[in-house]
Amino acid sequence: KVLKKMTPEEVIEVMKNSGLRGRGGAGFPTGKKWELTKSYEADQKYVVCNADEGDPGAFMDRSILEGDPHSVLEAMEIAAYTIGATKGYIYVRAEYPIAVKRLQIAINQAREYGLLGNHILGTDFCFDIEIRLGAGAFVCGEETALLESIEGKRGQPRVKPPYPAESGLWGKPTLINNVETYANVAQIILNGAEWFSSIGTATSKGTKVFALGGNVNNIGLVEVPMGTTLREIVYDIGGGIPNKREFKAAQTGGPSGGCIPKEHLDTPIDYESLKTIGSMMGSGGLIVMDDTKCMVCLAKFYLEFTVSESCGKCTPCRIGTKRMLELLEKLCSGEGSELDIYKLEKLAVNIQKASICGLGQSAPNPVL
Ligand code: SF4
Repeated sequence: KVLKKMTPEEVIEVMKNSGLRGRGGAGFPTGKKWELTKSYEADQKYVVCNADEGDPGAFMDRSILEGDPHSVLEAMEIAAYTIGATKGYIYVRAEYPIAVKRLQIAINQAREYGLLGNHILGTDFCFDIEIRLGAGAFVCGEETALLESIEGKRGQPRVKPPYPAESGLWGKPTLINNVETYANVAQIILNGAEWFSSIGTATSKGTKVFALGGNVNNIGLVEVPMGTTLREIVYDIGGGIPNKREFKAAQTGGPSGGCIPKEHLDTPIDYESLKTIGSMMGSGGLIVMDDTKCMVCLAKFYLEFTVSESCGKCTPCRIGTKRMLELLEKLCSGEGSELDIYKLEKLAVNIQKASICGLGQSAPNPVL
């Protein structure tokens, strides 16, 4: 449909009207990103799939890659046709061996059928995809660190701007979307923008997949329309809290997110509402905690994670998160004072403001 009946401008129009936003966490409008990348003139452009799913407890993308890798390849191809790219890379974690194996099988199949390669389906459009394996660094899920890693360098974020849409892989315009975002594309093209935008809320369209875990009876992946409340997810789909315990909080957004307490159980889950209550959508990890869980220990767990995953490029994140962790450890050992809480907050705000990339900018969130 896209190659034979639609112009790139028409594809962008459909994507914009659908209201699809990036499912990797930031929620940037997908159609706008495609339009922006298309607007830069260059002799070479790239399409990249971010499959470096690293949030603790999250496995939404793995499931898509293992279950329907062609949905991602097809979307990358549509994106490439739209922005004028001829080469694509899927950056996937080496810790996902089954996903990597099935992706390679799907790429080989697509090549055999003439759906990847030169003159796809008899048109002038040429496009091919290669897999690149991540080596286990959480920061490589950050788009510019991911690009550095594909280029064969140490995976450290670049200072933005310029954004990848203007200067990405080897300095060329590059479109990066995550797995779940791509998995929506072919369905939007087939069923139309209105079909997609009829699901969800005013500003968050479509569905979202969550990896539901922790103290809940039914754990696993759930796909719900945007705007579903936390109560519906935890009690109707998740079957409630085991052992007749009380709900205390749910953590969304992994190490970048925050905890949603009981009073917000009826908040609709969408990009804006979660931000308003101090958490974030993130890529889709959703960990439920009962009333026996300690919020300080949880904040400490995530901080330990970010301290060990900080790439070290900038001081606020490299040293600041370590100092925050020491303060939390002091509080947990019963040695803390009021002054430590003040120091913790001050450090947190400064790290948020002064760090180069999203890892540092959001590392204090669970503590705050
Ligand atoms: Fe590296 Fe942290 Fe700075 Fe990001 S914020 S560049 S992870 S040190």
